[in-house]
Amino acid sequence: MRAVVSSSQRGYKSAPAFFRGKLIESQDTPERLEAFVSVVQEMGLELVEPPVIADTLLESIHDRGYLEFLAKAPHRWSEMMPGLTSLMPNIYPTRHFPARRPRHFLGQAGYYLGDMVSPLTAETWGAALGSASSAAHAASLVLAGEPVAYSLCRPSGHHAHGDMGQGFCFLNNAAIAATVARTRHTRVAVIDIDVHHGNGTQHIFYDRDDVFFCSLHSEPDLTYPFFTGHADEVGAGRGNGFNLNLPLKVGSGDSVYLSALDIAIERISRFDAGCLVVSLGLDAHESDLLGSLGVTSDGFVEIARRLVALRLPTILVQEGGYTVSELGHLLRSVLSVFAARAK
Ligand SMILES: [Zn+2]
Repeated sequence: MRAVVSSSQRGYKSAPAFFRGKLIESQDTPERLEAFVSVVQEMGLELVEPPVIADTLLESIHDRGYLEFLAKAPHRWSEMMPGLTSLMPNIYPTRHFPARRPRHFLGQAGYYLGDMVSPLTAETWGAALGSASSAAHAASLVLAGEPVAYSLCRPSGHHAHGDMGQGFCFLNNAAIAATVARTRHTRVAVIDIDVHHGNGTQHIFYDRDDVFFCSLHSEPDLTYPFFTGHADEVGAGRGNGFNLNLPLKVGSGDSVYLSALDIAIERISRFDAGCLVVSLGLDAHESDLLGSLGVTSDGFVEIARRLVALRLPTILVQEGGYTVSELGHLLRSVLSVFAARAK
């Protein structure tokens, strides 16, 4: 099993963000990525530098205006406001009328960024591009015959919509991996085990019947991103029946989680997927700073075993996980299960 990380992801520092009413250092620290890299190195897995993702692939997922905003807006902001290095919205579209994209880029900040934990800096675009490139290349390795590949994605991706960044996410790495996988496989399944609903991935594939999306996450009434992730969101149009949300009560623990996982796995089998993308959040773990599902380390190993038992070519895409002191051993346990399959 090989692991993919771009040098442009290394060292990326998220700007301070609003959390529970205060401007604080982001929980999405560079140390998270270094913890993932250390695990890969200690396991003796080969670390691969990916080629830069093709524009055509990016634009098949993301709106061109949004991509331009990510690349250029922080520079315009610092020219306009010398000394201010991060861009964050101070107004958002309302729920009562359809949102129109304003010409002024501060209005565009509210249009293209969905919350106040995802500020843009001049470095965000390069790091997000590196992360997306890692996911795309991991998918290429799997298409070339490797049973499993792991992309060390940071920034994460599953909250990124086609035209909106959110939750530390700017480009949807899992959707990019699934899109690459679709060039070979007629049907691709994405399973999201991050504790937070994969709202961006859901949005991107919501009206599609060739990509089945399922997400296990903490109940949306009480958990970020709050407004999506309910069980009655089942897809639209051709995609009706191809979106599965399994919201779980806060503190559910292993047995409840694994029962829900079995439902997801049964649906993936019935969908007859040719390839699996795993949005590998580690924040459902009982120790996590931002998590609330109480899954143990043994529970995570069992999750990996059950996913491996699907016997599908598998692309692992790193998502959340924020307690750096716990991430190393947890990731190692999970990757070991997949690496054993890849031998
Ligand atoms: Zn998360």
